[in-house]
Amino acid sequence: MAVERTLSILKPDALQQGVIGKILTKLEEAGLKPVAMKMMHLTRPEAEGFYAVHKERPFFKSLVEYMTSGPVIVQVLEGENAVAKNREVMGATDPAKAAEGTIRKLFAKSIEANSAHGSDSAENARNEIAWFFAQTDLVRYDWKKR
Ligand code: ADP
Ligand code: MG
Repeated sequence: MAVERTLSILKPDALQQGVIGKILTKLEEAGLKPVAMKMMHLTRPEAEGFYAVHKERPFFKSLVEYMTSGPVIVQVLEGENAVAKNREVMGATDPAKAAEGTIRKLFAKSIEANSAHGSDSAENARNEIAWFFAQTDLVRYDWKKR
């Protein structure tokens, strides 16, 4: 399995609850390393653009309201099988259906305020990373040293 990258967002409820450290610990323990990271308070156009694939969904307006309701951390995670690994550590979209020990099971408030975002495919990961970061924002690790 190759080292790959994925886009992760720690959503407003995670920052509001003060669980950034606990979430990052889970991700690091799963072998994922941040290679770019920034705090943002998303504007409406940024949130609408990022979630454009969902614009016909009934929850779109509410999702944009929520994602612009407070600060977030946007980060690029790197590691073996990073796209699937991040989603595994996050758990199901609906915290009521998320597996024990997952980020969403532990911290999510609702199906909407569900603490974390993770790209769902390698192609979407590339597009989502490019939405928020320039190539020059990404640092490099020597994976042989781990
Ligand atoms: P995921 O984040 O697990 O990939 P989706 O891509 O389907 O889930 O949805 C994007 C985000 O929209 C979810 O993480 C959640 O914040 C919100 N969302 C999804 N489904 C609903 C819903 N039925 N009601 C309200 N918000 C939702
Ligand atoms: Mg999704």
